[in-house]
Amino acid sequence: AKQQGRNNYQYYDPTINSQVNNLLKIENLLHSALKQEELLLFYQPIVNVMTGKIVKMEALLRWQNPQLGFVSPQIFIPLAEENGTIVPIGEWVLQTACAQNKLWQEMGLLAIKISVNLSVRQFQQPNLVTTIINILEQTQLSPFYLELEITESVTMRDVELAKTILTELNKIEITLSMDDFGTGYSSLGYLKQFPFHTLKIDRSFIKDLTTSSQDLAIVNAIIALGKGLNLTVVAEGVETEEIKNLLKNIGCEYIQGYLFSKPLPAAEATKLLENHHLI
Ligand code: C2E
Ligand code: CA
Ligand code: CA
Ligand code: CA
Repeated sequence: AKQQGRNNYQYYDPTINSQVNNLLKIENLLHSALKQEELLLFYQPIVNVMTGKIVKMEALLRWQNPQLGFVSPQIFIPLAEENGTIVPIGEWVLQTACAQNKLWQEMGLLAIKISVNLSVRQFQQPNLVTTIINILEQTQLSPFYLELEITESVTMRDVELAKTILTELNKIEITLSMDDFGTGYSSLGYLKQFPFHTLKIDRSFIKDLTTSSQDLAIVNAIIALGKGLNLTVVAEGVETEEIKNLLKNIGCEYIQGYLFSKPLPAAEATKLLENHHLI
């Protein structure tokens, strides 16, 4: 403890110190992650609850470092946003995800959309739309097969800018998905100003759905909102058969979650798509 003034003792928690050191170390290693080819994408299916068919795959970033092992995206993505490395990393994600979807199409597999998460920082790049168009040209993927997932914080940062960019993307047939819906702070009125195609209900409203009447009321309202605004609704984080059945009964069309599949490395995701006609 360090004495501050007369009777004020400030205690330092050594675990906080080592946590800070850890974050600094992670941040340092993050700078070379892309160049050292330590990044990879996993893919998680989004399924039509009526037919059980895969309609999309969400690309989820993974970082495997020789020293740190697998680092959770919840830890390294906020750091990458802070230090700006998310911009080149995000470009790599787009490029890799589009190339993977093109490869699946060339293999003759079920045609699906690939869904890619975009960060606020990428949105602030003046050349975002050009970058995306270039990647589509380079990978030869038709824009119809690319979906972008954006959280409310991205659209709320600068509403006019977001409207301009999203409208441009929508014009070239890229579909847009509002991620983590319900957790942000945007007013519902904004929703109609943006050309979204899909609402993703955050897992926090889904996980206790069978026991929480509040969550059920919220999810019902989001589904009704989606229907009214002509948006597709996806429930995230579906882990049990009971939750799936409940969602089906209240008219939620699409689900994503461990119940159907965890995010998988490319080779395993490919197998899932290959065997898909058997399901
Ligand atoms: P998100 O976009 O909301 O992605 C869904 C997260 O929920 C993923 O975590 C996924 O693995 C997890 N999940 C899916 N189904 C279930 C389930 O049934 N139960 C539980 N408990 N979890 C489930 P992940 O892969 O750790 O990613 C965390 C977050 O990191 C993502 O949340 C997203 O915000 C961010 N992220 C991931 N990849 C990228 C990326 O390429 N770019 C950007 N900007 N952000 C990314
Ligand atoms: Ca997402
Ligand atoms: Ca989400
Ligand atoms: Ca989430």
